[in-house]
Amino acid sequence: MIQNPTPPPLTGASLDRAAHLRDDPDALARMAADPNARTVVFSHDQTLFRLTETGLALEWKPLGEVSGDEPPVFLGLAGDEPRFVTRIGDAEEPEGCKYIDLRSALFSGDFKGDEAAIVSGAKAISGWHANHQRCARCGGATKPAQGGWKRQCDTCKAQHFPRTDPVVIMLVVNKDRVAVAHNVHFPDTLYSLIAGFVEPGETIEEAVRRETLEELGLRCGRVDYLCSQPWPFPAGLMFGCIAEALDDEFTLEEAELSEAYWLDRDALAAVFRGENEKISPPRTGAIAASLLKDWLDGKVGYGT
Ligand SMILES: [Zn+2]
Repeated sequence: MIQNPTPPPLTGASLDRAAHLRDDPDALARMAADPNARTVVFSHDQTLFRLTETGLALEWKPLGEVSGDEPPVFLGLAGDEPRFVTRIGDAEEPEGCKYIDLRSALFSGDFKGDEAAIVSGAKAISGWHANHQRCARCGGATKPAQGGWKRQCDTCKAQHFPRTDPVVIMLVVNKDRVAVAHNVHFPDTLYSLIAGFVEPGETIEEAVRRETLEELGLRCGRVDYLCSQPWPFPAGLMFGCIAEALDDEFTLEEAELSEAYWLDRDALAAVFRGENEKISPPRTGAIAASLLKDWLDGKVGYGT
């Protein structure tokens, strides 16, 4: 087993979450009033970016200049400067700035690194608030608490916490080949790894085995976890895995996949070089691209 995965995009955010301050109303008020407090802004699930010569940068607005639908969520500390996320309604775009869908920004390759990791968490928590205005137990109105890391129901007193949905995504390998598949919802020639939600009562490894059998018709021998990536569309946590296929003939789940191929390293390298007319690789920013490149480079694999 070779296991030296490259940290995927959207990981390693530099912010100190300072979770101990979420339960301290005085500290939260002090930080909200701090002239160095800054906030990332979402309007209708789109992120406010500044257009720069080298690509896209998050537009960190002074917190006092932004009035949100609800109190801002405390993201953490950059050094000793507080950082927040604020969700607003209709909004004008400041000079040189634009509201852009985060997924498009990531796929463009113009936005990555630490800010991408920070805003990925900001998007997930902001979206959770937008979609959890009502109590799942009694239907009553909920309001944010703990700096935005909890919602409280006024009616039945239930507490609701931000959810994260586990998803497995796997390098399915057979000897010196890896399986790539075209999902019926993918554009044109895009091929990627298969993936699926972990179901209640399952382990990560069991979910990998079940999804590989359901989608590709392949039984798995060995299954190993490699690395993970938050994927805030809307609240995924992708568990990157590798699985050894015991079969080599695909039986595709036709509602999900229209085609699949085994690629050896030479063929996969050609795909990444753009030399295969039928197959284009997963997009920049996605863990699938990261895992496939690591397998290609020999950083992960079963050593065959
Ligand atoms: Zn309730």
